[in-house]
Amino acid sequence: MLTLSVSDAFAYLEPKINVATQDRSIEDGYSWNMCSNHFTFIRDKGAGVDQQDVSLLVTGLVFHSEFLKHEMSLGHPESPERLRSAMSAIEATGLVEKGIIQLHEPGIPTMDTIYRLHDREYVEGVRTKSEMGGGFYTLDTSVNSHSYKAALLAAGGASMAVDRVMDSSIENAFLLCRPPGHHAERQRAFGFCFINNIAVAALHLLEKHGLNRVMIVDYDAHHGNGTQNAFYSDSRVLYVGLHQDGRTLFPGSGFPNEIGEKEGRGYNVNLAMYPGAGNWSYGQAFSRVIEPLAESFRPQFVLASVGYDGHYMDPLTSLGLTSTGFASMNSKLMEMAQRHSRGHLVCTLEGGYNLDVMAMGSANLVEQLSGSEVTSYQDSYEESDTSMKHTESLVTYLEETIPLLQ
Ligand SMILES: [Zn+2]
Repeated sequence: MLTLSVSDAFAYLEPKINVATQDRSIEDGYSWNMCSNHFTFIRDKGAGVDQQDVSLLVTGLVFHSEFLKHEMSLGHPESPERLRSAMSAIEATGLVEKGIIQLHEPGIPTMDTIYRLHDREYVEGVRTKSEMGGGFYTLDTSVNSHSYKAALLAAGGASMAVDRVMDSSIENAFLLCRPPGHHAERQRAFGFCFINNIAVAALHLLEKHGLNRVMIVDYDAHHGNGTQNAFYSDSRVLYVGLHQDGRTLFPGSGFPNEIGEKEGRGYNVNLAMYPGAGNWSYGQAFSRVIEPLAESFRPQFVLASVGYDGHYMDPLTSLGLTSTGFASMNSKLMEMAQRHSRGHLVCTLEGGYNLDVMAMGSANLVEQLSGSEVTSYQDSYEESDTSMKHTESLVTYLEETIPLLQ
């Protein structure tokens, strides 16, 4: 049982208490305890003790120390330091200590969902290469002896996060994992990725929880080619990618005319951003494309591939987002989840290679998911007129092309 001071408690609970009890007077003279996600408010009214029990949902932070043991080459930007930096910023918010963010450690998942997304032979190959001490797939994508286990635990974390949200033990979650997943193809390790974690979460929702409308928003700076391909002909998963234009950045795909095929035609939406696109462009993408798509699709669950490499300080990309821009996208994702999916939202980490940005972005994300006060940072970036004009014509093209927007 964790006991918080009344002032701490109300700072966190006030917006939620009003919803949960519709009674502001609860603040008056109550002391209270929290055990897991269950709160007990007690007040001695003189004529006897008045007790009220309120169950509130909390945010899950899914993490495993094994994620830190996977390493590629020396000095590789996709390094364990990324997660160390994120974790220490999250700890500094005090939310874990107060029990407002609950840590969840994933286990090794059952393999059936993974084998539906990746060829068994390929997965076995990753295992063998890893167990033999490591080796390369491409110049920038390799495994060491811990990589296979870390990749399985990351995928296990994705299915665990959606299970916990579906059984109402948490409201939403952030999977703080390595290796990332959105570039992993059916039979190919690619772009620092081996198993597609967010695709595992989506397929798990469809096949194990019986959902039939899952929306994935991928705002990592790189196109989520693996996720797009996993559901390209499937109308049950609406994939929306916001990324730097593939003519200027790896992996060179994710163009606006890639809209899905067969049953899935119209359920794949790519917002290929001009280099330097920032908060204004991403704001337009949400208000004119992503929110209307959600309105039309009515997702039962919202998944987000979050990556902090769209920040203007990221060393690998040329986009222009700031911490305020990320926070604004997160608020919109939460609003969409509240409106259509009973708040069901799971975010999984993809990229982000500036360690300070990893720290700011991850701390802000858990603050937002848990409804806590959001720390503001002094980073700013002015996007160009050229980039804004490009976004204007991109959004207009999508409005005319995607059936869900008509
Ligand atoms: Zn990326």
